[in-house]
Amino acid sequence: MSLNEIYDPNNIFAKIIRGDMPCVKVFEDGSYLAFMDIFPQTEGHCLVIPKTEGATNLLTAPASMLSGLIETTRKVAAAVVAALEPDGVRIAQFNGSLAGQTVFHLHMHILPVYEGRSIAPHAGGSPASAEALELLADKIRRAM
Ligand code: 5GP
Repeated sequence: MSLNEIYDPNNIFAKIIRGDMPCVKVFEDGSYLAFMDIFPQTEGHCLVIPKTEGATNLLTAPASMLSGLIETTRKVAAAVVAALEPDGVRIAQFNGSLAGQTVFHLHMHILPVYEGRSIAPHAGGSPASAEALELLADKIRRAM
Protein backbone atom coordinates (compact mmCIF):
# COMPACT_ATOMS: atom_id res chain seq x y z
CA MET A 1 0.00 0.00 0.00
CA SER A 2 1.35 3.38 -0.96
CA LEU A 3 1.48 6.37 1.34
CA ASN A 4 -1.70 7.82 -0.15
CA GLU A 5 -4.14 4.91 -0.08
CA ILE A 6 -7.67 5.33 1.26
CA TYR A 7 -8.19 4.08 4.84
CA ASP A 8 -9.81 0.62 4.86
CA PRO A 9 -12.36 0.39 7.71
CA ASN A 10 -11.97 -3.41 7.65
CA ASN A 11 -8.26 -3.42 8.50
CA ILE A 12 -7.34 -5.66 11.43
CA PHE A 13 -6.85 -2.84 13.95
CA ALA A 14 -10.21 -1.27 13.07
CA LYS A 15 -11.77 -4.68 13.77
CA ILE A 16 -9.95 -4.83 17.11
CA ILE A 17 -11.24 -1.34 18.03
CA ARG A 18 -14.81 -2.38 17.18
CA GLY A 19 -14.42 -5.60 19.17
CA ASP A 20 -14.84 -7.73 16.06
CA MET A 21 -11.37 -9.27 16.59
CA PRO A 22 -9.80 -10.19 19.96
CA CYS A 23 -6.63 -8.68 21.36
CA VAL A 24 -4.74 -8.80 24.66
CA LYS A 25 -5.23 -5.29 26.04
CA VAL A 26 -2.64 -3.45 28.08
CA PHE A 27 -4.25 -0.01 28.34
CA GLU A 28 -7.36 1.73 27.05
CA ASP A 29 -8.98 5.12 27.46
CA GLY A 30 -11.52 7.00 25.37
CA SER A 31 -9.05 7.83 22.60
CA TYR A 32 -6.24 5.24 22.58
CA LEU A 33 -5.75 1.49 22.92
CA ALA A 34 -2.56 -0.45 23.68
CA PHE A 35 -2.35 -4.20 23.18
CA MET A 36 0.18 -7.01 22.76
CA ASP A 37 1.56 -7.60 19.27
CA ILE A 38 0.52 -11.11 18.24
CA PHE A 39 3.84 -11.65 16.38
CA PRO A 40 6.17 -10.22 19.04
CA GLN A 41 9.65 -9.29 17.90
CA THR A 42 10.77 -9.22 21.53
CA GLU A 43 9.16 -10.25 24.81
CA GLY A 44 6.64 -7.54 25.71
CA HIS A 45 6.21 -6.05 22.21
CA CYS A 46 3.16 -3.75 22.40
CA LEU A 47 1.25 -1.60 19.93
CA VAL A 48 -0.48 1.71 20.64
CA ILE A 49 -3.26 2.94 18.34
CA PRO A 50 -5.70 5.83 18.20
CA LYS A 51 -9.27 4.54 18.50
CA THR A 52 -10.44 7.00 15.86
CA GLU A 53 -10.49 5.41 12.41
CA GLY A 54 -9.20 7.19 9.31
CA ALA A 55 -5.45 7.70 9.65
CA THR A 56 -3.45 5.08 7.71
CA ASN A 57 -0.13 6.38 9.01
CA LEU A 58 1.61 9.30 10.73
CA LEU A 59 1.47 11.47 7.63
CA THR A 60 -2.31 11.24 7.27
CA ALA A 61 -3.08 11.73 10.97
CA PRO A 62 -4.62 14.96 12.25
CA ALA A 63 -2.29 16.92 14.52
CA SER A 64 -4.85 16.71 17.32
CA MET A 65 -4.29 12.94 17.50
CA LEU A 66 -0.54 13.02 17.91
CA SER A 67 0.29 14.40 21.33
CA GLY A 68 -2.10 11.95 22.99
CA LEU A 69 -0.66 9.10 20.94
CA ILE A 70 2.89 9.95 22.00
CA GLU A 71 1.93 10.46 25.62
CA THR A 72 0.09 7.11 25.68
CA THR A 73 3.10 5.46 24.05
CA ARG A 74 5.40 6.96 26.68
CA LYS A 75 3.08 5.82 29.48
CA VAL A 76 2.85 2.25 28.19
CA ALA A 77 6.60 2.12 27.47
CA ALA A 78 7.29 3.23 31.05
CA ALA A 79 5.06 0.42 32.35
CA VAL A 80 6.80 -2.09 30.06
CA VAL A 81 10.15 -0.98 31.47
CA ALA A 82 8.92 -1.20 35.06
CA ALA A 83 7.32 -4.61 34.51
CA LEU A 84 9.87 -6.40 32.33
CA GLU A 85 13.12 -4.56 33.09
CA PRO A 86 14.54 -4.50 29.55
CA ASP A 87 17.93 -2.90 28.86
CA GLY A 88 16.47 -0.56 26.24
CA VAL A 89 13.20 0.29 24.49
CA ARG A 90 12.77 0.82 20.78
CA ILE A 91 9.79 2.95 19.70
CA ALA A 92 9.05 2.33 16.01
CA GLN A 93 6.52 3.46 13.45
CA PHE A 94 6.33 2.60 9.72
CA ASN A 95 4.71 4.56 6.88
CA GLY A 96 3.84 2.72 3.66
CA SER A 97 4.49 -0.89 2.67
CA LEU A 98 7.90 -0.10 1.20
CA ALA A 99 8.91 1.20 4.63
CA GLY A 100 7.73 -2.04 6.25
CA GLN A 101 4.16 -1.13 7.24
CA THR A 102 1.75 -4.08 7.09
CA VAL A 103 -1.36 -2.77 8.88
CA PHE A 104 -2.68 0.54 7.59
CA HIS A 105 -4.12 2.06 10.74
CA LEU A 106 -1.68 4.43 12.48
CA HIS A 107 0.20 2.66 15.28
CA MET A 108 3.32 2.88 17.42
CA HIS A 109 5.47 -0.13 18.27
CA ILE A 110 6.98 -0.49 21.76
CA LEU A 111 9.82 -3.02 21.63
CA PRO A 112 11.65 -3.79 24.85
CA VAL A 113 15.22 -4.81 24.06
CA TYR A 114 17.22 -7.17 26.27
CA GLU A 115 20.98 -7.53 26.44
CA GLY A 116 22.10 -10.75 24.75
CA ARG A 117 18.69 -11.45 23.18
CA SER A 118 18.03 -10.85 19.49
CA ILE A 119 15.11 -8.95 17.98
CA ALA A 120 12.97 -11.13 15.68
CA PRO A 121 12.21 -9.90 12.14
CA HIS A 122 9.37 -7.42 11.75
CA ALA A 123 5.89 -8.84 11.03
CA GLY A 124 7.11 -12.41 10.64
CA GLY A 125 7.38 -15.67 12.49
CA SER A 126 4.66 -17.51 14.34
CA PRO A 127 2.06 -15.95 16.62
CA ALA A 128 2.51 -16.01 20.39
CA SER A 129 -0.14 -17.82 22.42
CA ALA A 130 -2.88 -15.74 24.01
CA GLU A 131 -1.87 -17.25 27.38
CA ALA A 132 1.76 -16.11 27.07
CA LEU A 133 0.68 -12.64 25.96
CA GLU A 134 -1.84 -12.40 28.79
CA LEU A 135 0.86 -13.17 31.38
CA LEU A 136 3.04 -10.35 30.02
CA ALA A 137 0.09 -7.96 29.70
CA ASP A 138 -0.89 -8.63 33.29
CA LYS A 139 2.60 -7.63 34.48
CA ILE A 140 2.52 -4.49 32.32
CA ARG A 141 -0.98 -3.49 33.49
CA ARG A 142 0.09 -3.86 37.13
CA ALA A 143 3.04 -1.53 36.49
CA MET A 144 0.86 1.19 34.93
P1 5GP B 1 3.36 -2.68 10.88
O1 5GP B 1 4.02 -3.71 10.02
O2 5GP B 1 2.12 -2.17 10.18
O3 5GP B 1 4.25 -1.58 11.34
O4 5GP B 1 2.93 -3.39 12.22
C1 5GP B 1 1.78 -4.18 12.32
C2 5GP B 1 1.97 -5.05 13.52
O5 5GP B 1 0.75 -5.65 13.81
C3 5GP B 1 2.99 -6.18 13.31
O6 5GP B 1 4.01 -6.09 14.29
C4 5GP B 1 2.16 -7.44 13.46
O7 5GP B 1 2.86 -8.45 14.14
C5 5GP B 1 0.97 -6.97 14.23
N1 5GP B 1 -0.27 -7.69 13.97
C6 5GP B 1 -0.73 -8.10 12.77
N2 5GP B 1 -1.94 -8.70 12.89
C7 5GP B 1 -2.22 -8.65 14.22
C8 5GP B 1 -3.36 -9.10 14.98
O8 5GP B 1 -4.32 -9.67 14.48
N3 5GP B 1 -3.31 -8.88 16.32
C9 5GP B 1 -2.26 -8.25 16.93
N4 5GP B 1 -2.33 -8.10 18.25
N5 5GP B 1 -1.19 -7.82 16.23
C10 5GP B 1 -1.18 -8.00 14.89
